[in-house]
Amino acid sequence: MPIRFFNTFSRQLEDFVPLEPGIVRLYTCGPTVYNFAHIGNFRAYVFEDLLQRHLEYRGYRVLRVMNLTDVDDKTIRGCRAAGIPLAEFTKPFKDAFFEDLDALRIKRAQHFPEATAADHIARMISMIETLVEKGHAYRAEDGSVYFRIRSFPAYGQLAHIVLDELQAGVRIRSDEYEKENVGDFALWKAWDPADGDVWWESPWGRGRPGWHIECSAMSTGLLGPQLDIHCGGEDNIFPHHEAEIAQSECVTELQFSRYWLHCKHLQVEGAKMAKSAGNFFTLRDLTKEKGWSGREVRYALLSVKYREPLNFTMEGLGAARSALGRIDEWTRKIREIADSANSADADPPHMRSNLAAFGQALDDDLNISAALASVFDVIRETNRRIEEISPNEAKGLMTWLDGVQSVLGLTSEESEIPQQVRDLVAQREQARLEKDWKTSDVLRDKIQTLGWTIKDSKNGQKLTRA
Ligand code: AMP
Ligand code: ZN
Repeated sequence: MPIRFFNTFSRQLEDFVPLEPGIVRLYTCGPTVYNFAHIGNFRAYVFEDLLQRHLEYRGYRVLRVMNLTDVDDKTIRGCRAAGIPLAEFTKPFKDAFFEDLDALRIKRAQHFPEATAADHIARMISMIETLVEKGHAYRAEDGSVYFRIRSFPAYGQLAHIVLDELQAGVRIRSDEYEKENVGDFALWKAWDPADGDVWWESPWGRGRPGWHIECSAMSTGLLGPQLDIHCGGEDNIFPHHEAEIAQSECVTELQFSRYWLHCKHLQVEGAKMAKSAGNFFTLRDLTKEKGWSGREVRYALLSVKYREPLNFTMEGLGAARSALGRIDEWTRKIREIADSANSADADPPHMRSNLAAFGQALDDDLNISAALASVFDVIRETNRRIEEISPNEAKGLMTWLDGVQSVLGLTSEESEIPQQVRDLVAQREQARLEKDWKTSDVLRDKIQTLGWTIKDSKNGQKLTRA
């Protein structure tokens, strides 16, 4: 079965075929760094991480870019209120974002371009110039440049909006009265006293880029004119992604992205997340103040399919904790059996359940609920006949689990012990049985140089990270 995704553009499940065989060009809209990212944002990033990991599991090389929006109204307002330069204001939020990615075990993209980098600003300006030359954009009197949506007949196709409906009922904001059409959006915003010292020189005077052109320039600049998959939360569909399509395609005259995947918004305790409702969480609130681990939060965010509503609750985190406990306990038992093997052979497990079901469920538009159910089927079935499992079969199960965990990213710290270290520990166990203390000490030192400390106790050797 091929991989299938629900494409927001066509509103249909489509077979996934990348432009270049074996390679996936993936662009994911990143955070606006004016504050700590909240767990809603992380639902989007965890879903994108699952997408990347599953594509890699299926043998694709994934080239991924996630931008950091470090200039927009909110970041400018923030730095002005704090009375510090923009870069100084956004830096701690950028650092926190990367810490949070690690805590949630989200794989790093190849590039995290920052909108304010000189080469990206230059590309944004050059794209806007092309749009003006081609008649898709115009300069208003104040020096702002707008995209002329009437010049792109496909405008509205992603969001399935008809232009005339779009215009009805929209009131023109007083600061945008110079636009030809209410739906026209800013590519370049002329400097305003409220911007302080945040501005760049351009052919239209001092100003700054609009948010939409940032993503068009950074995606095509780093991945080329055509993407395979573009992702974001559902709030990004309109106007942000609609605008990205219009700008990019009017410049390149090529289809911008072949597939559009959007995750549904996360709700907290059944309601929209809002500071005023007291249900607004950053990852830090959950890990540093409420004592949940990043791994538990990852499980809670991951375990509901991206197109289904996710209601984030403390009970949900509790359920994540017990589900992980079951996986860990099973892993420990199977590993123990596997470690007692005296050959390197792994036998295919004798399963009634289908070990391939995990990957097949994810092929089907990332159906994570079915994928996790298949994991628990295997756990249930093997637990029932644990006494009969041979060391070689247990090794076969560990190989299967390694594949599953490369996608889920939920391995416990303990089971992250590398095979080489585990082999040395087993050799040391043997040396100690033979009262060969010299070899035992040499092995302990070797294990130490690999980053693990061994302590001997009544119950045997205990391994911890050095
Ligand atoms: P922002 O920093 O607002 O630009 O958002 C960064 C990413 O998080 C975008 O892909 C948004 O669509 C996504 N996002 C924002 N809020 C939520 C939410 N409550 N649930 C899921 N995704 C969200
Ligand atoms: Zn974007």
